[in-house]
Amino acid sequence: MGPGGFFLTDIPVSDKIPRVKGMYDITPEHTPLWRWVEEKACGILNAAGYGEIRLPLLEKTALFARSIGEETDVVSKEMYTFEDRNGDSLTLRPEATAGCVRAVIQNGLLHGHGVKVWYSGPMFRHENVQRGRNRQFYQIGAEAYGLAGPDVDAELIVLLQQLWEQLGIEGVELQINSLGSPESRAAYRDTLVEYLSDNRDRLDDDSVRRLERNPLRILDSKNPDMAAVVAQAPSLLDHLDPESADHFESLQEMLSACGVQATVNPRLVRGLDYYTRTVFEWVTGDLGSQGTICAGGRYDGLVQRLGGAAVPAVGYSMGLDRVVELIGVQGKQPDLPATHAYLIVGGQGCQVAGQVLADQLRRTVPGMRLQTNLGQGSFKSQFKRADRSGAELALVLAEDEVQRGVVQVKFLRDQREQLEIAQVELPGWLRQWQAEQQPRPESQP
Ligand code: ATP
Ligand code: MG
Repeated sequence: MGPGGFFLTDIPVSDKIPRVKGMYDITPEHTPLWRWVEEKACGILNAAGYGEIRLPLLEKTALFARSIGEETDVVSKEMYTFEDRNGDSLTLRPEATAGCVRAVIQNGLLHGHGVKVWYSGPMFRHENVQRGRNRQFYQIGAEAYGLAGPDVDAELIVLLQQLWEQLGIEGVELQINSLGSPESRAAYRDTLVEYLSDNRDRLDDDSVRRLERNPLRILDSKNPDMAAVVAQAPSLLDHLDPESADHFESLQEMLSACGVQATVNPRLVRGLDYYTRTVFEWVTGDLGSQGTICAGGRYDGLVQRLGGAAVPAVGYSMGLDRVVELIGVQGKQPDLPATHAYLIVGGQGCQVAGQVLADQLRRTVPGMRLQTNLGQGSFKSQFKRADRSGAELALVLAEDEVQRGVVQVKFLRDQREQLEIAQVELPGWLRQWQAEQQPRPESQP
């Protein structure tokens, strides 16, 4: 019996079962670009001393309710929550910060000075599906615990700037703001609620609803009719406590010293409840209305709120779906794949020899892609397949070559003469050929 009580065999076998709305397959044509982005991000973070952490996709529902906040869009309407077979309420993670905090507490990683981690993987939110807004989407994020100063906020941002450079991404704007300490934020909240209540007749329905529960979010309203009332609202930055103001100023100084341009946006508040002091977003105009490719900030109270020590923390999360789309829109490409050869095998009698040769070459010529169909189809159709695969070389092994212990090498992309090479010399020849290939420039348009 299947989940939900129906028999799996009730589905007629001839019916196709489509994917779940908002959840996409990433097919082999596209995975190289995804992997390239992931490897660049992982390389930069590892090199800066951030260690990879792998977290479960499922957590107890209470973890998200307590950390992200009951009144947020994520918790109030976007989570995939269900009871498991024991009756426990579990949720597919809508983001990874909460799970990451849970994990560093549970694994006792918070002793000592500063813990820096990164994660990567799918997140799940039941959202209105549209461009840049999927129900299963992917994030790479980094988090630093135990470091209270603006230097680590700056480090995270500077590393992101490096990533955009390595990926060839252009024209993303960094917006920053400070939400202050919990106390100054609470005081500002009162001032804001007073102002908004005085202007209640100018608020849209969404904002009226938020007035009680999450008034700061009103500053973030995307409704153009709200622009004037929001613009005249008291500014968060005028209500910062002195320590937060210093923190914010040092952050800007460090960013500017590192050549990172930042725009202060006093209305940037972020959707999740746990932020304090620094918040930031990287925004592009090239993706339509879903232009935020990365967002983050400081959440000094969260570790304690989830039962850990009073440890400050800061982190960000980058939306891979949007980053990958942006690279495509801006016409950039990943580094080309490694050198590529196709082994063409003639005649049934040569299959064993072909299998052995492919195995030897894959062991002895690292970094070269070697594809073969081991003689399925005529020579002509194998050559066609080799050509379509993008291979630069065809290695031909027919009965005569097997007997004489040689291989014919044909150049598929230029006019060079075909060569005959002894099989024992082939690995060395291929390594030499590989070395002579043009060094491939990174991320050329
Ligand atoms: P938004 O305002 O766009 O809903 P958010 O504040 O909910 O964003 P975060 O929770 O901060 O987003 O997630 C960080 C990043 O993850 C976003 O900036 C975005 O790039 C990406 N992201 C968030 N939700 C989705 C989604 N449903 N589909 C694709 N990417 C997403
Ligand atoms: Mg959202």
